[in-house]
Amino acid sequence: MGSDAKDLVKHTKLFIDGRFVDAVSGKTFSTFNPSNSECIAQVAEGDAADVDLAVRAAREAFDHGPWPRLAAAERGRILYKFADVIEEHLDELATLETLNNGMLIDLSKGIIAGSVASLRYNAGWADKLNGKTLRTDSTRMCYTLLEPIGVVGAIVPWNFPAYLFLNKVGSALTCGNTIVVKVAEQTPLTGLLLASLSQEAGIPPGVLNVIPGYGPTAGAAISKHMRVDKVTFTGSTEVGRMIMESAARSNLKPVTLELGGKSPFIICEDADLDSAVAVSQDAIFMHQGQVCVAASRVFVHESIHDEFIKRSVKLASERVIGDPFQSGVQNGPQINQEQLDRVLSYIESGKKEGASLLVGGKRIGEKGFYIQPTIFGDVKQSMKIASEEIFGPVLSVLKFKTLDEVVELANSTHYGLAAAVFSKNIDTVNLLTRSIKSGVVYVNSYLGDGPAVPFGGYKMSGIGRENGYEGLLPYLQHKSILMPMENS
Ligand code: ADP
Repeated sequence: MGSDAKDLVKHTKLFIDGRFVDAVSGKTFSTFNPSNSECIAQVAEGDAADVDLAVRAAREAFDHGPWPRLAAAERGRILYKFADVIEEHLDELATLETLNNGMLIDLSKGIIAGSVASLRYNAGWADKLNGKTLRTDSTRMCYTLLEPIGVVGAIVPWNFPAYLFLNKVGSALTCGNTIVVKVAEQTPLTGLLLASLSQEAGIPPGVLNVIPGYGPTAGAAISKHMRVDKVTFTGSTEVGRMIMESAARSNLKPVTLELGGKSPFIICEDADLDSAVAVSQDAIFMHQGQVCVAASRVFVHESIHDEFIKRSVKLASERVIGDPFQSGVQNGPQINQEQLDRVLSYIESGKKEGASLLVGGKRIGEKGFYIQPTIFGDVKQSMKIASEEIFGPVLSVLKFKTLDEVVELANSTHYGLAAAVFSKNIDTVNLLTRSIKSGVVYVNSYLGDGPAVPFGGYKMSGIGRENGYEGLLPYLQHKSILMPMENS
């Protein structure tokens, strides 16, 4: 399956103003299959000159084109059509995603289906975004208009390429904006296929532009571009900080940042242990831990700690690792050599700092980037493995006695993206859900939010929210119009 899938690669050029074009520099870069380290295709490498052309096209489409001027219901109808076209190509997209990213094929299918749902959810808002009529302290009346913000620059990472692409495109386009998306250098292929499907759906030229390329060149060109009106970014906290700096230095464009996490998963004395063990396995090992909300710190009450460890180690050691196209496989490869090395170096640091390696810890094979699901016990919050984002299948287990203690520990990180609380006691659940500083808290469950639920981080996990009504607001300007109620 893996090698046949190469035939699926139809688009490898930049998508600007409705056309697939070579980079101005003529440069290309290789894109790989993480499951066997083989090159899949050469892709056009966009940089500042190409970003400039894409921004011009998006600017023209925004300033003079039909998209922001369409009746809102008509924009919604075109986005629904886009969702239908994507759904018709679901298998093709999912196969391409797995080929380029290493995501399990069933996960790819589920995520693309979720992306379609998200696009439809956003499309439904197109004709329901209204301003308000307000009282003033004079004889004038005031109404507010919600207007699109303009040209949006989106910078997306490699971990959920199609989903994050469509989430940002759907929100921006619903509100009447135009967009330039820089897809991740590791995973450019599904974004380019989606660009071609957008034409089939009738999205006009210039409204959606896609630039494959590297961060410090193409990505940085977007964040500092004077004619980009807003930047939305998903990726590391380190790069998020750079993007915010260059947005501020250039034209003070507003930013939405979805960044890293070190999410705590708290299992109380009275929790359903079977469920907690099973859910926590997926919460950390799903997609090989390459998930911003990966629950990488599990806090277990001391009374059930040893039993939790015993069962978790058994399950982790039984996980099936292998080709992401094969059914029954639970863990595929990490994205590339760099990430593999990074994860292995965190494992080494855990051993050095005195944590107990209970299972896993090693690379598997030499082709592809596979790592054993790994669990550390005897972890202290001060260790690197418990305080830094690893973005791999590495779980740190910590013990606690009291709720006050676990709140303190759970909150003692710079991150605040997600958390889980497992307990049957409503007072415990209320106390923990309200005390934990994170954008989402799952009770007796993890993930599976759906497009209506706002998502984003506290602290250094980000700025702003995506999804839901709240996720659309950053793509709109709010204009207040004041006028006398009677002629004087
Ligand atoms: P990850 O660790 O998930 O790769 P990164 O934050 O490094 O996350 O990358 C996420 C996205 O940000 C990618 O598209 C990458 O090319 C881009 N990027 C990296 N560096 C910069 C930069 N200096 N300016 C803008 N974008 C960047």
